[in-house]
Amino acid sequence: MCKGNGDYHNLELYEGDVLPLESFLLKKVDMLESQNDNRPFFLVDLAELYRMLEQWRRHLPRVELFYALKCNPHPIVSRCLADAGVGFDCASKMEIEQILNLGVHPSRIIYANPYKPSGYLTYAAANNVDLMTFDSAHELTKIKKHYPNARLVLRIWTRNGPIMIHNLSKKFGCHTREVRAILAQAAKMNLNVVGVSFHVGGPVTSPDYYATAIEQAHRAFNIGLSLGLNMEIIDIGGGFPGKYNGYVTFEEVAESVNKSLDRYFPASEAVRIIAEPGHYFVTAAFTLTVSIIGKRIVSKRDIDDGCKKDHFKEHNSDETSNEEAKDESLIYMYVLDQGTCGAFANVTYDDADIQLKLLQNSNLKTSIVWGPTCATFDCVVAKRQLSEMEVGQRLYIPNMGAYSLSLATGFNGIELPLVFPVCSRYYCATVPLIFEQLLFSKVCLTPTAPKTHIKGLLL
Ligand code: PLP
Repeated sequence: MCKGNGDYHNLELYEGDVLPLESFLLKKVDMLESQNDNRPFFLVDLAELYRMLEQWRRHLPRVELFYALKCNPHPIVSRCLADAGVGFDCASKMEIEQILNLGVHPSRIIYANPYKPSGYLTYAAANNVDLMTFDSAHELTKIKKHYPNARLVLRIWTRNGPIMIHNLSKKFGCHTREVRAILAQAAKMNLNVVGVSFHVGGPVTSPDYYATAIEQAHRAFNIGLSLGLNMEIIDIGGGFPGKYNGYVTFEEVAESVNKSLDRYFPASEAVRIIAEPGHYFVTAAFTLTVSIIGKRIVSKRDIDDGCKKDHFKEHNSDETSNEEAKDESLIYMYVLDQGTCGAFANVTYDDADIQLKLLQNSNLKTSIVWGPTCATFDCVVAKRQLSEMEVGQRLYIPNMGAYSLSLATGFNGIELPLVFPVCSRYYCATVPLIFEQLLFSKVCLTPTAPKTHIKGLLL
């Protein structure tokens, strides 16, 4: 299930709360270079996963977690979250298999894909993964045949924002006007509908999307109750920001969600609330390090004549103030050892704003940064003012955990990055299970964390 470079390395610990990022990167680069190895790599800060987990449990204590594996199925992530008690949103047989192989109980999985091949349904039935979503009567017919005892969650349509990249309601979700008929059909077929789900899309530009969706879910839930269905679950989906997304913070979203839950599903009614965050968990935990493998300085006129306009849309950059950057007659083109078919797949999927960081800065030049394949869509950063760089130079990119490795195809046979896990000594000591099971045999454990912390993490 782990695509590309599965050979990840032993966990290393750091002191204190904040990862000394650049010193770790330099150490890894030195280590690789001493072996004549200049491959790209990810540094994964496991402490960041736990910080996000703690933050979630602090701000959304009523909402059970089912991590959306599709966002980043790297085994380090799934292992850590499984050991910390998190459940999983799986979208296919392969994803379900990956999670069951970790020893996770089937009740901690939701098969959250409204369109399921019959063979996958049979697999889910054989393995007791009974919680699953649907949004059409056609799916009900298939489920009736292959898994009649499944517990079903109706995915409803919700309004997604006009500027959202992921307008999931274009593809999924039973429309409000269809809810009664589809639930009545399920009841008539003797199928066990237990809840309602939605996904507000992304990036979320306002917490109001959750508020509106929860209200809609409440209406659908009540229709289910009125039809005698065993309604007991609300699934509020994903879309939660893993870092400030330019519009809303996680705290703002959480406040709005809590308010709506208190209004429509008060704790006294004991409705089970679950969520399927992806971006939220992994975005900030992964830092990518790549190298420049090619450079070409060309005239701007040549580029503009030969290329599609939208490929070179202007990006704002903090660095544009430098006067030298104003000379746009030349374009500094660079080619990296990873591109949009590899670790930068999030550029295509999420329109991710790639923040290239050099370990030292120099003069700014108008630049374009490409990936290593022969495809022209493999553009990582289109026209931005960047420090001049040289072939062989390393750079790093923070916030690369979501929809990067999971979508990488390895097109042109380009190898995917290595993965080096690190963690703060403090967090490691709180989650000893990880060390027993992850084979990080060289790690020395010092149980320094206070007991209350352990409780919070292993709920
Ligand atoms: N749940 C479902 C059904 C999804 O389709 C997705 C993403 O496509 C997610 C959860 C995760 O969304 P995000 O990564 O925005 O939290």
